[in-house]
Amino acid sequence: MKSLPYFCRGEVIRGFGRGSKELGIPTANFPDSVVDNLPSDISTGIYYGWACVGNGDLYKMVMSIGWNPYYKNIKKSMETHVIHKFKEDFYGEILSVVMVGYIRPERSYDSLEALIAAINSDIEEAKMKLELPEHRKLKEDNFFTSTSSSTSVTPSTTASTSQTIQNGH
Ligand code: ADP
Ligand code: MG
Repeated sequence: MKSLPYFCRGEVIRGFGRGSKELGIPTANFPDSVVDNLPSDISTGIYYGWACVGNGDLYKMVMSIGWNPYYKNIKKSMETHVIHKFKEDFYGEILSVVMVGYIRPERSYDSLEALIAAINSDIEEAKMKLELPEHRKLKEDNFFTSTSSSTSVTPSTTASTSQTIQNGH
């Protein structure tokens, strides 16, 4: 996929209220404006990358893009599970992410247990892959460190590591 890594951000909106949280795997939903901006070569499926809420710390994440076959959804969605235990929900906050790599296509499952097992194995794969030096360095990207990151909601496709301000050192 040519467009990876792909950077984007947007407000966290309410999802379909289908209880991902009850499964222990809450997924923060992006609004249509972000979903509709995805480059065409970003296919549906499960991705891994980095995410931060507002100006908070950067954490590993897994994201599902697609039609959510298990729930027979008709709408496309981008749902991010941040691999971190938050004290509170963060609806309305700006979620910034970089999608780094692709794990697998979407599929439907015969049982909730099978779905949960698949997601947990995605999470393990994401944790491992993101330790690679070329993936770790994306954490330092300007996209996450610049002060404008909390206000802009414009999706960006450009990595900008080289623009890091040296601060006179
Ligand atoms: P919804 O259907 O509204 O998306 P979920 O059950 O999927 O409901 O819960 C998602 C919400 O949970 C997010 O919008 C966010 O506010 C909150 N949340 C708490 N912890 C996390 C996390 N680790 N990753 C993603 N969302 C989280
Ligand atoms: Mg959700």
